[in-house]
Amino acid sequence: MEKKNFNPFEMAQAQFDSVAEKLGLDEGTRELLRNPMREYHFTIPVRMDDGKVKVFRGFRVQHNDARGPAKGGIRFHPQETVDTVRALATWMTWKCAVVDIPLGGGKGGVICDPHNLSDREQEGICRGWVRQVARNVGPLQDVPAPDVMTNGQHMVWMMDELEKIRGEHLPGFITGKPVGLGGSLGRTEATGYGVVYHIREAMKELGIKIKGATASIQGSGNVAQYTLDLFTQLGGKVVAIACWDQKDKKAYTYKSKNGIGFDQLMAAVDKFGTIDQAKAKSYGWEKLPGDAWIEQEVTVLVPAAQENMINGENVGRIKDSVKIIAEGANGPTTPEADVVIKKKGIFLIPDFLCNAGGVTCSYFEQVQCNMNYFWTREEVLQKLDDKLTSAFKAVSDLARKKKVFTRDAAYMIAIGRVAEACKKRGWV
Ligand code: GLU
Repeated sequence: MEKKNFNPFEMAQAQFDSVAEKLGLDEGTRELLRNPMREYHFTIPVRMDDGKVKVFRGFRVQHNDARGPAKGGIRFHPQETVDTVRALATWMTWKCAVVDIPLGGGKGGVICDPHNLSDREQEGICRGWVRQVARNVGPLQDVPAPDVMTNGQHMVWMMDELEKIRGEHLPGFITGKPVGLGGSLGRTEATGYGVVYHIREAMKELGIKIKGATASIQGSGNVAQYTLDLFTQLGGKVVAIACWDQKDKKAYTYKSKNGIGFDQLMAAVDKFGTIDQAKAKSYGWEKLPGDAWIEQEVTVLVPAAQENMINGENVGRIKDSVKIIAEGANGPTTPEADVVIKKKGIFLIPDFLCNAGGVTCSYFEQVQCNMNYFWTREEVLQKLDDKLTSAFKAVSDLARKKKVFTRDAAYMIAIGRVAEACKKRGWV
C-alpha cells in the first residue's frame, strides 16, 4: 500500500477479511460486518465572520450497533474523506467489543481546518452538524465524542443544539464534555493513560522494567501528552516526540536524551499540539526531521497521531532495541508493516485495544450521566485500569494459545463478539 493512495477503509476491510477467514465466518456475516450499516453525508452552511456563507461537508457513519448504540468521535480535518470515516467507524465497533462495553461503532467528520476558523465559525459547524443528524443520533442511537481537532467545547455546543431541538436535557448524547457539564473526571487523560496501562502489562509479560525504559512518541496532541505523563510518572523516559508544525507546514521530531518533561511539553504546545520552536530550543531539545521518531534507540514506539505512519517504506528503520509498539492512534500501521513487525518479534499492542481508554471512559461518562451521580477521579481511573487490563490479558492469552499475532487475536475476540450479537438478534 503506497503512501500516496493509502485508503484506510480498504485496510480495515483487509484486516477484517483475513480474520473472518480464520474464524470461518459465513458469507452473510462477512458481508454485513465488512460494510457500515448506515451512512449520512450532508452539507453544513455556516455564515462566516466576513458575512459570506461557506458550505462544509459532513459525515456520520454507523458501522454496527448490534451490541449497543453506535459510539465514536467526530474529526475536523481538511483532508477528511468518507473512506477514512468508514474505517474509523469500523475500528470503533471492534474497539468497543474488545473491551466489552455495550456500545457499537460510529464515526463522524467534517472537512474543515480549525486552524483557520474562529470559535464562532466552529460553533456554527458543530450546531449545523447536529441539525443534519438530529433524528439519527442520541443516547440510545449514536453517541459522538471528541477526536482529531475537536474537544470538550465542541461537544458542549453539539449537546446544546440537540437539547434545543428535543426540548430536554440529554447529557448522555455526547461524551468528552467538560467536567461540570456532564463530563467525567479522568476523561482528558483516559486515552493516554490507557496506552500506558497496556505498555505496563506488555512489559510484565516480556520481563522489562518500566523504570529506566525509553520511548519515542509520534504525535503531540491529547493521546501523546497523557501517554508521556503516565509513562514518565512510572519511571520511564520519553526521549523523542514528533509533532506537526503548523507555521512551517511540516513535522519535526524533538529529542532530549534526559527525557521530555510533561510540564515542559504542556507549556510548549498550542491547542492543536504544535510545539513552540523557541521553547523547545530553550529546553535544549534537539530538532530533527519529522520522521526521525521511528529510528530512535528506544524500548517502546508509540505512534499516537494518525493513520499510515508505520508503513512498508519506513518499517525497516525501526531499531532492534524496540520491544513494544503501542498504537495510540487509529490505524497507524499498514498490513505491509505488520509483516515485518511480526518477523522482528516486536510485541504489538493493536490500536483498537491500545487506545480504547478514551471510549471506555466515555462509557463511564455516559453511565455517570444516566445516574446523575459522578465518581472521583481515582474511582474512574481504577475502573479504567481494571477494564483495560482484563482486555489486554484476554488478547495476549489468546495470541499465545493460538500462536497468532496480537492484532489478529484482538480481532478474533472483537469480531467474534459482534458476529455473535448479530446472530442472536437474528440479523444473519
Ligand atoms: N475518538 C476516540 C476514539 O477514537 C474516542 C471515542 C469515544 O470516546 O467515543 O476512540
